[in-house]
Amino acid sequence: MSRALLLTQSDDRATHAQVVDLEPSQWPEAEVRVAIAHSTVNYKDALAVTGKSPVVRKFPMVPGIDFAGTVVDSADERFKSGDRVLLNGWGVGETHWGGLAQQARVKADWLVPLPDAFDTHDAMAIGTAGYTAMLCVMALQAHGVVPDRGPVLVTGANGGVGTIAIALLSRLGFEVHASTGRLNESAHLQALGATEVIDRATLSAPGKPLQKERWAAAVDSVGSHTLANVCASLKYGGAVAACGLAQGLDLPASVAPFILRGVTLAGVDSVMAPYARRIEAWGRLAQELPREVLTANTETVGLADVPLLAQRLLAGEVRGRVVVDLAR
Ligand code: NDP
Repeated sequence: MSRALLLTQSDDRATHAQVVDLEPSQWPEAEVRVAIAHSTVNYKDALAVTGKSPVVRKFPMVPGIDFAGTVVDSADERFKSGDRVLLNGWGVGETHWGGLAQQARVKADWLVPLPDAFDTHDAMAIGTAGYTAMLCVMALQAHGVVPDRGPVLVTGANGGVGTIAIALLSRLGFEVHASTGRLNESAHLQALGATEVIDRATLSAPGKPLQKERWAAAVDSVGSHTLANVCASLKYGGAVAACGLAQGLDLPASVAPFILRGVTLAGVDSVMAPYARRIEAWGRLAQELPREVLTANTETVGLADVPLLAQRLLAGEVRGRVVVDLAR
C-alpha cells in the first residue's frame, strides 16, 4: 500500500483532505512510476488542500505540485529504475495526481533529473517556489538587470519565492531590499542577504501612477496594488519579474511607468515552462544557491501535518519553505 493525501469534494463543494492507504494500482496510469521521498507545501498546494481557490480540477485528487524521488519503473526509455528525478508543475496536483503521496505516476516529459548537488530533501526545500525564484532572476537578467543599476526589491519576502529570491540575488552581487508584513523576521531576511527591510504596508494601498524612482528591478510574488506601486517606483529602464498573487489577482496600474520610464513587466510562469528552461534553472540553483540557506529556511513535516500547515501558510504564519517527508 502507498500513503497519500486524498482530496474529495462534498455536495456543498467543500474540500476534504484525508491521509489514506491506496493500492499502487489505484493511481491513474502514466509512463513513469516514482517512489516519492519528499514533496512540499507551496502556496498553490495550500489553496488546493483548503479548497480556498478552485486549483483542483477534478476529484478525488492527490494534491502536490512538486516532488522528488526515485524511478520505480518506466515505460519510457529515457528513465530506468533507480534514476533520481524531480517534478514541478504541468498540472500535477491540479488535474493529475500529485506529489503529496508515497508514489506518483507521471509522463516522462514532465520529469527532470535531480541535480547531483542535491538530495531529495534539498530539492524540495527549493521546490516550485525556489525554482520560480530562479526563473524570476533569469527573467531580470534577460532584461539586462545588473548590480550596478541599483537595488532590487523582493516582495512577499518571507515566503518561499521571496526568501530564495533574496538569497539568489544577494549571491549575484545585487543590493537586495525586502518588503514584508513581518518586520519581526527582519534578522532572517538580513541573514539571507537583504540589506534593507521595508514594511509591505507602504506598497499595498492604491498609489500614484509615477512615484520616486527607488529600485532598478523587482521580484514580485504579491500582485495587486503592490505590483502597481512597484512598477511606479522602478528606475528608468527597470524591470519587474511578476510571478504571484499573494495580495490579489488584480493589477490596478496605469501605463505611465511603461511609456514614460521604459519599465518592463516580465511575467514568469513555472508550470508550463519548457524543459530547457527548467534544466537551466535547476542547473543554476545547484551552482548558485548555498546549502546553508536551505537548512535555515526550511521546516520539515509529515503528510498528516499538511492540512493544518496549509491553513498556517495562507494565514502568513509560515516562514520560508516547508518540506513534506513521505517516510514520516
Ligand atoms: P508563500 O505563502 O510562501 O509566500 C507568500 C508571501 O506573500 C507571504 O509569506 C507574505 O510575505 C506575502 N503576503 C501574503 N499575503 C499578502 C498580502 N495580502 N499582501 C502582501 N503580501 C502578502 O507563497 P510562495 O512564495 O510559495 O508563492 C508566492 C506567490 O507566488 C503565490 O501567489 C503563488 O501562487 C505564486 N507562485 C507562482 C508561480 C508561477 O509559476 N508563476 C510558482 C510559485 C508560486 P511577508 O510575510 O514577508 O509579507
